[in-house]
Amino acid sequence: MIINIHDHPYDIKSSQILFQFFSKFATERHYLDGTIVDRGGFVQAPEESIKEMDEAGVDKTVILNSCAIPNEHIYETYLKPYPGRFIGFTGSSPVVRDANGLSNNSFNQKNWEDTRRSITELGFTGMKLLPAYEHYSAVDPRVYPFYALAADLNVPIIMHMAGTPVRFVALQHARPIDADRVLFDFPTLRFNLPHMGWPWEDELLAMMVRSPNLYTDISQIGETGLKRTAKCLITARDFGVLPRVMFGTDPLCRPIKMYIDFIKNGINKVAAEQGERPFTEDEINGILGGTALKFLGLNPETAKM
Ligand SMILES: [Zn+2]
Repeated sequence: MIINIHDHPYDIKSSQILFQFFSKFATERHYLDGTIVDRGGFVQAPEESIKEMDEAGVDKTVILNSCAIPNEHIYETYLKPYPGRFIGFTGSSPVVRDANGLSNNSFNQKNWEDTRRSITELGFTGMKLLPAYEHYSAVDPRVYPFYALAADLNVPIIMHMAGTPVRFVALQHARPIDADRVLFDFPTLRFNLPHMGWPWEDELLAMMVRSPNLYTDISQIGETGLKRTAKCLITARDFGVLPRVMFGTDPLCRPIKMYIDFIKNGINKVAAEQGERPFTEDEINGILGGTALKFLGLNPETAKM
């Protein structure tokens, strides 16, 4: 089973909302081949996403809402029409944002209630938090009611703790270590701090060694270099945390098929170049989907289509 643990909605309405959100801040992104694209420029209808998944052999894709889009829209556009194919994570904003998209000082009670309702009534599987994008710290007391909610409902959290080329991001809140205290306060909660913590991969991997419910994914890191991805996977294996590393794409690790081929074959080419032992089939299957089943709390038998 192949699960893309980290992707976003690209339907026209979501893209327009995200474009408005991002266009307030000059930002451009770079493809691996050197093409520069606008962050809001990627539009793909849900049926095209399904086609892309089918062509690449992806069984399920986790759609992460990036705060600005109503969860209801993700439900109507992705979850309801394609049950079993798309898995939803709420866009959760613990602090109220001002007109510039940055946080002011109030706790976002409305969003907390919407997050709870989206999980309990609309079937969202987990919660997405973006501290650095919304200029708050992962240890801010206003975030704790969201952690507590996830713990109560036994759902996982994906929280962006990594660098990004997006211009307005507050990097002082982006380092994985900024979330360290939270792992002590919620030891049983499953967290995915994605992108292998790029460019602080070693920091994140050291946290994973200590915290058995901490996961990561390789989305976006492909954008910064496939060789770097392979080397990080080797380090993760050396540290004994490879069974908690998951495959994901984000918008720019595309074509998806290329990234899957890279996991299936390319990482072993890099391992050979580095004089490292090859990744086993079990290890590769774990990265591609087995680990995501565990992280998402899905039963491998009933998850099959
Ligand atoms: Zn993402």
